[in-house]
Amino acid sequence: MTDGLDAHIPAGPLDKKWDQHKFESRLINPANRRKYEVIVVGSGLAGASAAASLAEMGYRVKCFCYQDSPRRAHSIAAQGGINAAKNYPNDSDSVFRLFYDTIKGGDFRSREANVYRLAQVSNAIIDQCVAQGVPFAREYGGLLANRSFGGAQVSRTFYARGQTGQQLLLGAYGALCRQIAEGTVKMFPRTEMLDLVIVKGHAKGIVVRDMVTGEISSHAGDAVILATGGYGNVFYLSTNAKGCNVTASYRAYKKGAFFANPCFTQIHPTCIPVTGDYQSKLTLMSESLRNDGRVWAPKKVRDTRPPNEIPEEERDYYLERKYPSFGNLAPRDIASRAAKVVCDEGRGVGGTCLGVYLDFADAIARLGVNTIRERYGNLFDMYHKITNEDAYKIPMRIFPAVHYTMGGLWVDYNLMSNLPGLHVLGEANFSDHGANRLGASALMQGLADGYFVLPATIGNYLAAHTGEKPSADSTEFKKAEEDVQNRTRRMLGVHGKKSVDHFHRELGLLMWDKCGMSRNEADLREALKRIPQLREEFWENVNVLGDSEELNQSLEKAGRVADFLEFAELLCYDALNRRESCGGHFREEFQTPDGEAKRNDEEFAYVSAWEYVGENSPPQLHKEPLVFENVHLATRSYK
Ligand SMILES: Cc1cc2nc3c(=O)[nH]c(=O)nc-3n(C[C@H](O)[C@H](O)[C@H](O)COP(=O)(O)OP(=O)(O)OC[C@H]3O[C@@H](n4cnc5c(N)ncnc54)[C@H](O)[C@@H]3O)c2cc1C
Repeated sequence: MTDGLDAHIPAGPLDKKWDQHKFESRLINPANRRKYEVIVVGSGLAGASAAASLAEMGYRVKCFCYQDSPRRAHSIAAQGGINAAKNYPNDSDSVFRLFYDTIKGGDFRSREANVYRLAQVSNAIIDQCVAQGVPFAREYGGLLANRSFGGAQVSRTFYARGQTGQQLLLGAYGALCRQIAEGTVKMFPRTEMLDLVIVKGHAKGIVVRDMVTGEISSHAGDAVILATGGYGNVFYLSTNAKGCNVTASYRAYKKGAFFANPCFTQIHPTCIPVTGDYQSKLTLMSESLRNDGRVWAPKKVRDTRPPNEIPEEERDYYLERKYPSFGNLAPRDIASRAAKVVCDEGRGVGGTCLGVYLDFADAIARLGVNTIRERYGNLFDMYHKITNEDAYKIPMRIFPAVHYTMGGLWVDYNLMSNLPGLHVLGEANFSDHGANRLGASALMQGLADGYFVLPATIGNYLAAHTGEKPSADSTEFKKAEEDVQNRTRRMLGVHGKKSVDHFHRELGLLMWDKCGMSRNEADLREALKRIPQLREEFWENVNVLGDSEELNQSLEKAGRVADFLEFAELLCYDALNRRESCGGHFREEFQTPDGEAKRNDEEFAYVSAWEYVGENSPPQLHKEPLVFENVHLATRSYK
C-alpha cells in the first residue's frame, strides 16, 4: 500500500495472478445472490455487459442510462474493431504480446497486472460475442477475420465492417433484454444520475432525475457500479457523442472517489478536419483505414495544388519516412503529433491548412475498388456525406481530434474505487491504457470489465457487507436530493444572457489551445487562471431555458457543462504536475531532439490519483507507484 492507495494486486507470477485471485475471491452462493441489489449506471458496452452478467448470476440489478434505449449508448459509434490474442492469422500473436504491446502503447504508465489480465480474457470476449451472434467478418474458410491496428505488428483486430461497436452493443443489449424480460434487471432509460450517496463511508445509492418528468428521486443498493463513459467533451469538439459527459464520475469525485490521470487524453489522428466556428461535433475516420490508406502531406510549404496534381516525388509520406517499422500504423499519439508538426511547418492542406491526406490510390490500384468498398464502404459514404468529396477518387483530408480519455476514476484490481462499494468500469475508470490507448482496445477493456472481471470480483465487497443496504428514505439520501434540487434551482434562476453552448464552446477552445495536443507550463497556468473566471461568468450569466419539471435539454446540458467547468481545472492541474511527456500527454518542455515524447521514469512512474478537498482548495495528489517486473522500461520506439 502506498499513499493510502492499495491496488490489491495479487502476489505471484504475472500469468497466474488472475486465476489465483479468482480462486481466493469471496463467493456468494447462488441462492444468496438475489438478496443483493446492485445499481449499474450506464448501459453502453461496459454497463450492459456488467448488468446482464450480474443478473444472470442471480443478483438483482437496477440499470440506468440517459438515452431512450441502451442501444443508443455512445459505444454504438465504435467503428474499427476489438482486439484479442487469438492468433488466427498465425502471425505470432500471444497473450504476452498483446500485453506487451498495450503496456508499451500506453507509454509504460499502466499497471502490469491489470493489462495482463485484459490480454488473458480478450479471447473469451470474442467467444462470448460469437455465441451471442455478433456477425464478425469472416475469411472464406469460415474463420473470423482479423485486420491491423496501430501500435501492433500483428493482425489481432476482430471487426464487423466499420460498425463493430454497434454489433457488439446489440449483442450485449440482447443479453440485457433477456434479463429485463426475466425481471432480474429493472431498466431506467432517460434517467440521469446527478449524485452519488455515501452512507457510513460506503457508496450505497444514487440520486437521479427523470428526464421526461423532471422528478428527482433516489435509489439505494448494496453496491454502485459506474460505467458512464469518457469525458472527451470537456474539449467541446470531439468525436464523442454529444451527450458524453463527466457528471457521474465528477459527482463521485466530489463525494470522495479519487480521479486518476485526468490529463491523459487521446487525440485521434484520423478525423475529418474542423470546417467552421459553429461546428459542434467532429467525425472519426476509423483507424482501420490506415491498413490500406497512406498518410502524406506536400513536401513544399503552402502547396495549394489539388492532391492529384502533386507528383509522387513531391509528397512526404511522413509516417512511413519517420517510423519505417510501423509506417501508417504508428500509434495514435505519435501519428497525431506527426500531423501537427507537418501543419506547424506550413505543409497542411485544405482551406484551414489544418489537414493532411489519407490516400487510397495505391490500395485501389493493388486490390481494386470493390475490395476497398467492401472493407470500408460505410466510412467512405460517411466521408462523402460530410465533405461532398469522393475519397475513392481524391484522398481524404484528416486532422487529429479529441477521441478518448484514458483518465477516469481510480480503481483497484477488483475494479473498486477507493470508496468502498463504488466500482467503475469501461472508459469511466482510469483503465488499462496508461498514457495512450491502442486502437481497438477500448471495446476489449469495456467488455472484459463487464463480462468477466466485475462478476468475479464484486463478491469480495458484497460478501463482506451483507445486509447493509440502507433505505432510500434515510437522511443521507434526502440531503443529496436536496442538494440536487438546489443546484437545479440555482441554474434555472440565473436568467443571464449567454447560452449554455456558449460557455461550453469557450471552455473547449481554451482547453484545446492550452491543454490539447501539446502543453506547456505557461499555458497551463493561464488556463488555471481563466477556467475559474469562466465558471464564475457561467453562474452569473448563463441562460438556462425552460423549467425543471419537464423535458428540458437546456437544463440537462447546463448541469453537464457546470461539471466540465470544474473538472477542466482538475485536468489542467494534473497536466501541470506531470513534468514529463508520455503518450497523449506532450509537455513541450520535455522532448527529445527529434521531437518525440521524453518520459521521466525516475520521477513520474506513478498513477496520479486526485482527491477533492473542497471548493476553494487545489485538489490533493496521491501517487500509486507503477512497478514493472515483467517488462523492461524502455524508450518507446516505432522506428
Ligand atoms: C467514433 C468512435 C469510434 C470508436 N471506435 C472504437 C473502436 O473501433 N474500437 C475500440 O476499441 N474503441 C473505439 N472507440 C472507443 C469506444 O467506443 C468507447 O471507449 C467505449 O464504447 C466506451 O464504452 P462505455 O460502456 O465505457 O461507455 P459508453 O458507451 O459511453 O456508455 C456510457 C453509458 O453511461 C450512461 N451515462 C453516462 N452518464 C450518465 C449519467 N449521469 N446518468 C445515467 N446514465 C449515464 C449513458 O447513458 C450510457 O449508457 C470509439 C470511440 C468513438 C468516439
